[in-house]
Amino acid sequence: KRVLTVPETGLVVLVGVSGSGKSTFAARHFRPTQVISSDFCRGVVSDDTDDQGASADAFALLHHIVATRLRRGLLAVVDATNVQRAVRGQLLRIAKEHDVLSTAIVLDVPERLAQERNRARTDRDLPAHVVPRQRRDLRRDLRNLGKEGFRRVHVLRGEDEIDAAAVELER
Ligand code: ATP
Ligand code: MG
Repeated sequence: KRVLTVPETGLVVLVGVSGSGKSTFAARHFRPTQVISSDFCRGVVSDDTDDQGASADAFALLHHIVATRLRRGLLAVVDATNVQRAVRGQLLRIAKEHDVLSTAIVLDVPERLAQERNRARTDRDLPAHVVPRQRRDLRRDLRNLGKEGFRRVHVLRGEDEIDAAAVELER
């Protein structure tokens, strides 16, 4: 069993393609109130968790919730793909403004597994070209996450490593 240590007050950024299991992982290891997902925020501002046109407002809301939790000394776990460096950069900036550490947890699954899972989903109807693009973004940046400003980077490779992981909050 691999134990991932995460500062109790701080930012956790989940990183992984659609279907990599971020929301499943978040539900398993964190309390619902600790997790802020882009889907939830999209739903709040559009009544449709799949409305990509609502992204700007959804992310503004997500950033606001993250900032508020960090200001109040709470853990904030961001459940979104976060495969793009600019998207992570916005989150890292918020953490820095609040003087807290950032942790990245990367769920790195084979493309085939993610595609297979997404095809079986009823909560999302994803065009097949999306995952390969997300995967390219992720693979390009994977080795440099530490340099981006994450204090700790945990990379879980494949379903077995993901399922064997435990999260420990540290003061
Ligand atoms: P998205 O970015 O689209 O929100 P996601 O990364 O949050 O995707 P999940 O919704 O957590 O992905 O998982 C996608 C599908 O894969 C779900 O049907 C879920 O049940 C299944 N799944 C996720 N993690 C695992 C796992 N560790 N073992 C088996 N099935 C899993
Ligand atoms: Mg999800």
